[in-house]
Formats: sequence, structure tokens, C-alpha cells
Amino acid sequence: MIDESCVHCGLCLSSCPTYLVTGLETESPRGRVWLLSQHSSGVDIGHTGLKHLDDCLDCRACEEVCPAHIPVGHMVNQFRIASSTGVARSMVKPLRYFFATRRGRRRFKRLLNWSRYRVVKRTMSWFPGWIPPDALALASGLPQQTVETARPVMDPVKEGRVVMLFKGCVMDTVYGKTNQNAHDLLHIAGARVVKPELQTCCGALLYHSGDTEILRDLVLENLAAFEESGSEDVAVTAGGCSAFMKEYRHLFSPEDPIYDRVVRFAEAVKDVSDVLVQLGLPLLPSNGQRISMHDACHLAHAQGIRQSPRTLLRGAGYDLVEMPDSDRCCGAAGTYNLTHPEISRTLLGYKISDIPQDIDAVALGNPGCQLQIAAGLNKQGRRVPVRHTVDLLWDAYQGVNDGRG
Ligand code: SF4
Ligand code: SF4
Repeated sequence: MIDESCVHCGLCLSSCPTYLVTGLETESPRGRVWLLSQHSSGVDIGHTGLKHLDDCLDCRACEEVCPAHIPVGHMVNQFRIASSTGVARSMVKPLRYFFATRRGRRRFKRLLNWSRYRVVKRTMSWFPGWIPPDALALASGLPQQTVETARPVMDPVKEGRVVMLFKGCVMDTVYGKTNQNAHDLLHIAGARVVKPELQTCCGALLYHSGDTEILRDLVLENLAAFEESGSEDVAVTAGGCSAFMKEYRHLFSPEDPIYDRVVRFAEAVKDVSDVLVQLGLPLLPSNGQRISMHDACHLAHAQGIRQSPRTLLRGAGYDLVEMPDSDRCCGAAGTYNLTHPEISRTLLGYKISDIPQDIDAVALGNPGCQLQIAAGLNKQGRRVPVRHTVDLLWDAYQGVNDGRG
């Protein structure tokens, strides 16, 4: 898909992270639209041109500001997938191995638990060919394993909205406790929460790496889980997953026999913060804690979600301290931090410098950003916790069960 409507206004330049890092026109949205149009007219854009397209983070920041509504990130992504270019293809095998099946996700969980040990990290760093150094650096952002304390027994909710909690693959293996907290918060907000076992990865990481074949199987499994659960909403704790599942409909033709089911599912998908705002949580007095929000690209740019997490945090008694350019990409971008380590590291450096000094935590709503920013703060020796909005809310609301139901 090539869009010819670019008016070369340049309004997109300052919002593009790769332009910010390199200062190159060819690393800007406008430059990428030009490269795509050259390629579609049969001009050989060469290895360098392909690299500039491949460097796009698909952060969608340009799409929000473009007066001609050109979906640059989406166009570049479709080009990479259709033309089988892009270093992200090297991630297809490991992603399939770990995330396409339940067994794979169990393996991933074991690997994660193992990689938390410092002695293992040190040993692995002696054999740099085994695990890429950037993957090792990311492992420093993994949450510590904690012993789960007994949860309060909640009154069953007998009436109210039925909400399916979508677990996700990275989210559930790395931040499973966040999903549990989301479940209990939705319950406190009055929802009848269901968390079907039969659900799977949304497919975003695989699809964006160029593996389009497996998507249908994953979508069918998620459709079945949703339909059997009888839910009105699908609440999602990972911004990358909700953004991708809302766009499922664009990946299937209207002639496809499952198209109507896909549309119904996509319409039910919501970020958990939007569901909680809609249902309503009790207002709490100030707790004096200062929180700064990082807006994940796939929440802010792809879904326009900025206010719901802030509304919830304020309502739970937190004081918000805004960070500059809170919606500029942190460089995580799916597997970008592994496939494009240099640009990713530079963007992470900008993000860490922007995080205010006098805060109690950074809040966010996407696991990739959480891992990336936590690793960046660790590297600089800054002891600021990086927390999912849902976990901060759970800190404030645990023990609160207003007895609805
Ligand atoms: S999607 Fe992001 S990285 Fe790609 S061109 Fe747009 S702003 Fe730049
Ligand atoms: S903002 Fe849109 S129309 Fe303007 S230069 Fe960028 S891509 Fe082209």
C-alpha cells in the first residue's frame, strides 16, 4: 500500500524517534513515504534504503500528527512483511518456539526464572555468542520473584458486566501478578471477571516479525475463548496486545467466513484502564506518593489512551508528575531492542534522562516498555520502581471490596 498524499509539510519530523536520533531525512516519516513510493515505481532503493525502512519502530507517533492521515508506521510494517525484508525476521523462530503454544510459554517461564540468578547472568556474559549482550542487559529489568501473600476473599459479583481478562504471552509469563491484580481490580469495580484457560498469544510479536502464517490459528483460539466466555468486554493489560487485537479486522478480508466474528471480538477489546474507568473505582484520599507516567506508543499513539490511566491513578490517591515527552518511544518496540540495539539504546538513554528525579515510581501499561525502562534505570543505578498502572492501583485498593454483588 503506497500513499501518494504526502504534502511534504514536515509536521511529522519532530515526532519521529529515529529522525530525532539520526537527523536524517531518510530516517523520518516523510523520507520513508518517499522511499516506499520510489520502490513502488520500480526504483532500486538499495540496501541503505531498505535499512532506513527497517529502522522504523512502528511507534505510530507520526500518524497522530500527519494532516494527511498517512499511516506511515503501518505502511512500512506491511512493506517489511510483504517483501520479507527486515532483521526482525531473525526473531520468528525463537518467537514461535516460545510464544505460539502453551508448552512454549511454560519453557519461556522456566528460562526467565533461571535468568534471574546473578551467577547465571555472569556466567552467560563470559560466553557472549550464546546470548546477545542486549538480551542479558534486558534481563536486569526482570521483576524480582516475590512470595505471593494470601489475597482477600472477595464477595462474588452476581450481576454486572461480564469481562474477559486477556492474559497475553509475555505479560502472563513475566508479569503474571499484574494480571491477577487486574482481575481483582475489575472485581472490585463490579465486573464478573472470567479468565478462560483456552486463550493464547495475540500474535503481534510474530506478525510484526513477518510470521503471518500462524496468525489465523491464534485468532481462532482467542475467538473461541471470547465467545464461550459470554463476555461483553475483553480487558487487556498489555498495550501492544490490545492495539494489535483492535486491528485484527484489517488482517482478514470481509469475504472470510470468520470476518464477522473477528469484528465482534475486535470491538470488545479494550485496555484494562478504559474498562476500569467505565466501571468506576472508589475515590481514595491522597497517599502522598509521586508517580510519573510513561505513555507506551501502542496505548498513546495507536489507541489514543492517555487519560484513563491518569484518571485512575489520581482517583487512587497518587500525585502525578508529568515527564517531558512521555509518549516518545523508549526503544523497546516489540523485539526492536534486540534487533536494533544502537537506536534502541539511544532512545532508552533519552527516556531515562526525562524521568523526573523526585518520584516514587514510573507508571506504564505495556510489558516491553516495563522491561526496557527498568533495565535502563538499573544500568544507571537509579532505584526507581517501574510499575504497571494496575499494580499501583492494586497497592491502593487491596483490601477494598465494596461489597457489590
Ligand atoms: S512509526 Fe515511528 S519510527 Fe516509524 S516513521 Fe513513524 S514516527 Fe518514525
Ligand atoms: S506529516 Fe504527513 S503529509 Fe506531512 S510530511 Fe509527514 S507524512 Fe507527509
